Amino acid sequence: MDDAILHLIADMIESMYAAQGVGLAAPQIGVPLRVVVLGMPDEDPFALINPVVIRREGTRRMEGEGCLSVPGYRGALTRSEKVVVRALNEHGKEVRIRAENNLLAEALEHEVDHINGILYVDRLDSTDDLTKLDGTDWATARPIGEAAEEPAAEAVEEVAQRG
Ligand SMILES: [Zn+2]
Repeated sequence: MDDAILHLIADMIESMYAAQGVGLAAPQIGVPLRVVVLGMPDEDPFALINPVVIRREGTRRMEGEGCLSVPGYRGALTRSEKVVVRALNEHGKEVRIRAENNLLAEALEHEVDHINGILYVDRLDSTDDLTKLDGTDWATARPIGEAAEEPAAEAVEEVAQRG
């Protein structure tokens, strides 16, 4: 991979942790590339380049998904039970990531959606499934999906500037 991509990945991982998120897609920080980073709690972070969901199985109801590009809200939506993603890793090698019934499965679908221009709010059945958080709800919303705190505002601004 070229140095610019490796540098981007390092920056994205830093931004993801600064926002206490578990995933971040390059378009969220204003970079129009198909690159995502994921960092599950207590696991090493990793990057996926050109990720494509090649298999989805089953459905499950998520109750509190959030996104740093949609601060102040969380939503209930349907995600897949099992997800297989094909991508390149940061060394340019093809990898397949499999996840089932866990945070990683949710995050994979969420982040691949981002690089396709889709936000989780686009997947809600109804606006009734969207909940506005007051300040005290943040603590409980944070572990699911991505969290929004101070650094998120910058990311959102950048996205907004791109229109
Ligand atoms: Zn997001």
